[in-house]
Amino acid sequence: RANVFAITTGSKNLDTMLGGGIMTMSLTEVFGEFRCGKTQLSHTLCVTTQLSVEQGGCAKKVAYIDTEGTFRPERIKEIAERFDLDPEAALENVMYARALNSEHQMELAEQLSQELASGSYGLVVVDSIMANFRVDYSGRGELSERQQKLNIFLNKLCRISEEYNCAVFLTNQVQSDPGANSLFGPTSKPVGGHVLAHASATRIMLRKGRGDERVAKLQDSPDMPEGECVYVIKARGICD
Ligand code: ADP
Ligand code: MG
Repeated sequence: RANVFAITTGSKNLDTMLGGGIMTMSLTEVFGEFRCGKTQLSHTLCVTTQLSVEQGGCAKKVAYIDTEGTFRPERIKEIAERFDLDPEAALENVMYARALNSEHQMELAEQLSQELASGSYGLVVVDSIMANFRVDYSGRGELSERQQKLNIFLNKLCRISEEYNCAVFLTNQVQSDPGANSLFGPTSKPVGGHVLAHASATRIMLRKGRGDERVAKLQDSPDMPEGECVYVIKARGICD
């Protein structure tokens, strides 16, 4: 589509599978077990978004909503060096907010629409989308209220992505299913139910592979076939 930018992930394999990278104007969700690289991919995108279009970015700033306290400014600087960006400047272009609970997370989305009206943002990261909602609505009978709130939050992000032509990158956890038969490996169902499944135009499952390797599987895409590829996590960010 015209006007849509593809932001490089840092991995050629991943970019190819995604048709160029993480797309603006829609929501992309990655989900997977602990340590498969969701946060590292978020950090890498914080830098690559700032690259020129020729280099795989869109020369714009990033808004980062951190719900787990895992954002590391030092990582942004390290990754910036790989792409020959000034580390300090690269970090300054990342507007960071820690979402303390689900209500705060929803307020941040509200503030975001104002901040992004400047048109200078190319990416919004939410790492992770469900953590606060799961804590705040953990009780029996609270699920439908949770899903309602989640729906409002996601609708806001959808509108932002289209209105300001930015990519929205969500990370998500997987359901731990104690009843699952371990013969078939770990379960890999993302949390968030239909509401999240519906909002995410692109859905990518991440898992650990051999040694350092990580595997990404494209499950849902508006214009690319299902596929699988391997990437690795390095000091300089996500790469092949
Ligand atoms: P998730 O968010 O999916 O739980 P992370 O994105 O935090 O996972 O990825 C954790 C992995 O990234 C770990 O295997 C860790 O070794 C690797 N990692 C983190 N920082 C670095 C670094 N500076 N250099 C190389 N690998 C790193
Ligand atoms: Mg993480």
